[in-house]
Amino acid sequence: MTKTCMEKDCQFGGLVQEINDGQTVKVLCGVHSIMYALNESKLTYKKGYPLKSELKEQADCSCCNNLAINMIEHLPTENTQWTLCETHLKKLLTHSLSPKEFHQLYNQYGDVYLLHDDFYDPETGIAFQQIE
Ligand SMILES: [Zn+2]
Ligand SMILES: [Zn+2]
Repeated sequence: MTKTCMEKDCQFGGLVQEINDGQTVKVLCGVHSIMYALNESKLTYKKGYPLKSELKEQADCSCCNNLAINMIEHLPTENTQWTLCETHLKKLLTHSLSPKEFHQLYNQYGDVYLLHDDFYDPETGIAFQQIE
């Protein structure tokens, strides 16, 4: 099933982020998932969206012990499934993890798109391209 970004004026489908916080499910493209991370109140959804979540249990964040949001990142090869709290998910989406957080996630998720070496130095974990 092809999923399309739920932002009102966006038709982007396919390689999207599916964000499930236990209350709602939001499907967002790259641009709009960054908008979600920076200032969610700027997003306007298509009529009837976001959808209601049917998630029964929320895992713990991979970085801290807070309740996690589930995010499925749809990629050309395989999908990555993230479990991160709101703070860490938003830092991941804006490429602004701290070196410690980068290493924690790299140990668990490996060399995946959002952790790759365009965004962070793999040795030091220093972020190159933080979006503000
Ligand atoms: Zn979009
Ligand atoms: Zn966290």
